[in-house]
Amino acid sequence: MSNSSPRAKLMYPGNEPSRTKIVATVGPSSDSEEMLADLVRAGVDVFRLNMAHGTTDVSQARLERIRKVSGELEIPIGILADLAGPKMRLGAIPGDSYDCDPATPIRFVHGETTTEPNAFTTTYDPLIDDVHPGDKIMLADGTVVCEVVSKTENAVLCNVIQGGTVRSRQGVNLPGSKLSIKTLQPADIENAKWAVAAGVDFLGLSFVRSPDDIRELREILQEAAWPDKPVPHIIAKIEKPEAVANLDHIVAAADAIMVARGDLGVETDIAKIAVVQKQIISACRRKNKPVIVATQMLESMHTESMPTRAEATDVANAILDGTDACMLSGETAVGEHPVLAVEMMHRIAIETERLVYARLLEDAGHRYLKLARNGRKKASLPESAAEAAVYLSDVSGAKAVFAVTESGKTILLLSKIRHAAMTIGCSTNEVALRRMCLYWGVIPTRLNASTPRSMLEEVLQRGRNDGFFKKGERIVLLSDPSNGTENRRLFYVHEI
Ligand code: PGA
Ligand code: MN
Repeated sequence: MSNSSPRAKLMYPGNEPSRTKIVATVGPSSDSEEMLADLVRAGVDVFRLNMAHGTTDVSQARLERIRKVSGELEIPIGILADLAGPKMRLGAIPGDSYDCDPATPIRFVHGETTTEPNAFTTTYDPLIDDVHPGDKIMLADGTVVCEVVSKTENAVLCNVIQGGTVRSRQGVNLPGSKLSIKTLQPADIENAKWAVAAGVDFLGLSFVRSPDDIRELREILQEAAWPDKPVPHIIAKIEKPEAVANLDHIVAAADAIMVARGDLGVETDIAKIAVVQKQIISACRRKNKPVIVATQMLESMHTESMPTRAEATDVANAILDGTDACMLSGETAVGEHPVLAVEMMHRIAIETERLVYARLLEDAGHRYLKLARNGRKKASLPESAAEAAVYLSDVSGAKAVFAVTESGKTILLLSKIRHAAMTIGCSTNEVALRRMCLYWGVIPTRLNASTPRSMLEEVLQRGRNDGFFKKGERIVLLSDPSNGTENRRLFYVHEI
C-alpha cells in the first residue's frame, strides 16, 4: 500500500487535513481495501457501517478491513455502527410497484404481503393500532402522503393526499403518531452487543425519542463491556419531532448527535429543516458534544462527478453553522464516484474553513471579554486547562496546541472552543485517538513517551522529522502529568 498521501505523515507540513471531519458510509461501492485506503487518503475520518443492511458478519469483515487499512496508513480512523431502530418499510407489493392516486383510497392491512387491491402491508405490525383518523402516513421518503380516514380492527383506510409511485420495501414514516414500540428493537440489542465485542467506536441510534432511549442503550452496552472492550460512544440520531422537542435532554444524555436529515425531512416539515439543523448544532455547542450533519449532502454525486451548486453550498453552510462533521451516505456506499465525493467534501471544507478562521480571530476578543466577565465563576479543571491552553496559544501566536490526555476529554473541550491554531490530540490510547476522529479541528496523533518532558521531546523530534516546524515558530503543550489521577495540568510554551 502506498504511503504517498500527505495524510500518511503524522504532522502535516502545509498540507493539512480539513478541520471538519468526514464520515463516509461503507457499502458495495467502497468495500475493498484499496477503495477504503483511497477514501482515507481523500480525507475520511470515520467510516459508518449501516446495520440496517447486511448481517453482523458483513459488518465484522468491513470493520476488520478498515482497521487493517488504518494500521497500514498509520492514520487513526473511527468506526460508527448505525442501529436501525424502529425503521418501518412497506411489505412486498405484487408486481413490485404501485401508483398511488389521490382519486383511489388505499388500505393498510396486517401480514407480510397482500393481494387485495389497493392494500399494503408494512414491517411495523402495530401500525394499525398506533394511527388514528387525521394522522399522516408518509411513504417512499415522504414523496407520497396519505391521511388516515377510518379504522377497522384489521385495516386502516387512507386518502392519498399527494400521489406518486411506491415500490416494495420502501420506507414508511408515521410523523404525528405516538409509536407503541420501544426505540431499541431486539435486532438493535443484538447488534449493539456485537458492536461492543467488535470494538466499534461510535454507535448510532435511529429514531431516538427521549433521553431514556440513550440510557437504556448505555446500560446494555455497559453490561456487555469488559476492560479491554470499552463502551462505544452513543450518537443519538435526531429524526423525529419528539426528539426535536426533547433536544436538550437528548444532547445531554448522548455522547454525540447526528442531524439525520433523511428521516427528519419526512417526519417534520421540510420547510423547517435548515432552522432545525441550526438549533441542533447550537444545542451541541452549548453542551460540548460533537455533531454530524447527514444525508443528501452531495446527493447528485451518486451518479455525477460534480455536485450541484446547492449541494456544495449545503456542505459549506453546515460548516458555518458549526458542525463537527459532515456525512456521506449512498454517495460512498452505492454511488459511482465515492472518492470524488470525499475529495469534493474535503475541498469545500478547506475553502469554507478560511472564512471560519477569519471569524474565529474576530470572535477571540469577545470570548476573552466574556471569560473575564465570568472569570470568578469556577470552571472545572479540564475547562480551565483548555481555555488556558488556547489563551497561551493566542497570545504567543502558536502554530499548534499539543494536548496530551488519556481520556480525550480536554481535547473535546479544545475542539469546542474553535480556536485558530491547530489542535494535535496526543494519546497512547488507541480508543481515545479514534474518538478524536469526530472532534472538529483535532488531529489524532499517537505518542510513545509517557512523561510530560519526554512528550515534549518526542513532539519536537517528530515535528522536525516531518518538516512541520520552522525556526521561530511556537507551540503550546498541555499535559496531565498524573494521567488523570491528580487534579493537575502542566503547560509548556516552546519556541523552535
Ligand atoms: P439513515 O439515517 O440513513 O440510517 O436513515 C440518516 C438519516 O435519516 O438522515
Ligand atoms: Mn434515518
